[in-house]
Parts: sequence; C-alpha cells; structure tokens
Amino acid sequence: MARVQDVVCGMTVDTDIASHKSNYKDRTYYFCSPGCKTAFEGEPEKYVSNPAGGRENRND
Ligand SMILES: [Zn+2]
Repeated sequence: MARVQDVVCGMTVDTDIASHKSNYKDRTYYFCSPGCKTAFEGEPEKYVSNPAGGRENRND
C-alpha cells in the first residue's frame, strides 16, 4: 500500500485502490477521479512542473 498525491487537486490517493492513473515520463501518477486524470493528460507539464506536494521535482 502506498499513498501518493494527486498532482491535479492535491488529494492523497491510495495506489491500491486508485483506478485513475496515467504514465508520464516514466512515472505513474494517480488521480482521485477521471476528471483529474483528464486534466493531467491534457496538460501534464502544467502539473509536473509545479506539483502540489513539491517533492521529487527534479528535471534533468
Ligand atoms: Zn483529484
């Protein structure tokens, strides 16, 4: 079980039960709802460049 942050809305999402997820740049992002997933996939750079959690924000 792992908890990650939904970068769109900032909610904490449990990866065991999250059914909304998307892969971007070799990372998997989890979302609380299809709406957040759609928003992320529409403009992923917007969210990964400014994550709500502010962690692991590395750009090589
Ligand atoms: Zn969300």
